Amino acid sequence: MPRKFWNREIETLSREQVCQLEAPLIADQIQYVYQHSAYYRDRYDRAGIDPSAIDSHAALATLPFTEKSDIAQAQMQGALFGPNQCASFEDIIRLTCTGGSTGEPTRLGWTQNDIDVYNEMGARALWTMGCRPHDLVISCLNYSMYAGGIMDHGAFETLGAGILPYSIGNSERLLEMLARFPEREQGYSLFMTPSYAVRLADIADQLGIDLHDLNIRRGYFSGEAGLQVPGYRDKIEQAWGMRAMDMYGTAELGVQSGECEHRNGHHFCGAGLVAAELVDPDSGEVMPFENEATGELVYTSLRREACPLIRLRSHDIVRIYTEACACGRSSFRLHTLGRSDDMFIVKGVNIFPLGIQEALLTHRPDISAEFFVELTQEPPIDYRPRICVEVSDGVEPTRYASLARDIETTLQRRCNFSAAVELSARGSIASEHKTRRLYRAYLGNPAPAVDILYK
Ligand SMILES: [Zn+2]
Repeated sequence: MPRKFWNREIETLSREQVCQLEAPLIADQIQYVYQHSAYYRDRYDRAGIDPSAIDSHAALATLPFTEKSDIAQAQMQGALFGPNQCASFEDIIRLTCTGGSTGEPTRLGWTQNDIDVYNEMGARALWTMGCRPHDLVISCLNYSMYAGGIMDHGAFETLGAGILPYSIGNSERLLEMLARFPEREQGYSLFMTPSYAVRLADIADQLGIDLHDLNIRRGYFSGEAGLQVPGYRDKIEQAWGMRAMDMYGTAELGVQSGECEHRNGHHFCGAGLVAAELVDPDSGEVMPFENEATGELVYTSLRREACPLIRLRSHDIVRIYTEACACGRSSFRLHTLGRSDDMFIVKGVNIFPLGIQEALLTHRPDISAEFFVELTQEPPIDYRPRICVEVSDGVEPTRYASLARDIETTLQRRCNFSAAVELSARGSIASEHKTRRLYRAYLGNPAPAVDILYK
C-alpha cells in the first residue's frame, strides 16, 4: 500500500493527545529561554511568572505575547538577532531574513537542530500536499536571504524529492529550460508564488510557448494566499494543465500547514514542533479550539535553540476546522482569511485584500486580477481607496472607463466599500517576487509607479 503520511503517528493524534505530547516540550522550552535569554527572563520576572509552572497549554496562555516588532526594534538598536537569541554563534549555522512587509527585514539564526525541525514540519506539509520522493521540483522562490528559498528547499530534500534551486528572475530562460526537459512519466513540479505562475503564463504566451507541452504536472504554492480564492486556482490549473496545491507558512517558524487531496483547508503540521493557540485578535484572550472558530494564530516554538519564539503573534486571521478529514489526518485544518495588519477599515467595514481579489476575478478575462490597493491618508478611511488593476491586452481603450466603473460596482456589491479603480498595463503588477497587495502611503510606503492606462 502506498505510504499515506510522512509521520502517521503524529498526524493522526487528537487535539487532546497533541496537548499531552506538547506539555513537557512547553516546559522544556520555557526553562530554556528563561536560562538563556535576558529578554524572556526579565519579562517573566517582572510579571511575577514562575517559569517552572509553565508546563501545559493552559499555563502557556498566561505568558505575555512576543511581537515581531519587539525583535525588529532590538535589531534596529544594534543586535544581530535580538533579545531572544539563546544559542551561541558556535552553534548557529544559518541566517535568514523575514520579509520586510512592515519595513526592514528581520534577521533569524538557526542551529542544525532548528533546521531539522523546520524540515520535519515542512516534509509533513509537502507529503500532505501529495509531494513524493519521485517528484522533480523546480523552485522559483527567492533564495536571497528569505526562508521560502533555501529553508523550504531543505524540506523538499528531507522528503526525498529532487529540487532544482532556480530562484527568481530570468523568466524567459526558465520557460525555455522547461521546454527542453525530456519527457518523464511523472512529469515535473513547480514551487512558486501563485502570482508568478500567472505572470509566467503571460510570458509564455508572448514567447509562443504552450504551457501544456511542458510536462508540468503539479505546482506547490507558497508565499501568498491567492490559491484559496477558488477562481484563481482554476485559472492557474487551466493555464498550466497542472494540479495546484497550497501550503502555508511563516518565515519565523516554517511551513506549518498544507492542504490534502480533499482541499478542505490546510492541515496544521506542527504537532510536537510548534504549539498553536487561537486568540481573539482584539482582546488577546485565548479561544477554544472549536470547529469553525475564527481568530488569530499564536505560535510557540517547542524545540528551538537559536532564536526561540514564545507566543509569537502571527497577525494571521484564520478559521479552523476540527472535524475529521477523509484523508485520515486528525490535525486541525485552517483557512486563512487575511492578515490583521493587511486589513483596513473603510467606513466601518473590514476589508481584506483576499476579498478584493475574489471580487476582481469575476471580471476575467478583461482583467488579470493582479492588483494593489494604496491607502494615501491616515485612518479613518472615509475616502475611496485607490485600487490599481491589470487590464488584459485584448480590451479596447474605449472600454476602459466602463470597465473601471463596473469593477467599482462589483467591489461595492461584494466587499461593501467604494473604491477608485485605475487600470494598468498587463504584466505591470504581478512579478516573481511575492506580490504585495496593500500599500500604506501615509506610513511612508507608497505603491510602486506602474504604467497607468486609465484613471
Ligand atoms: Zn485531509
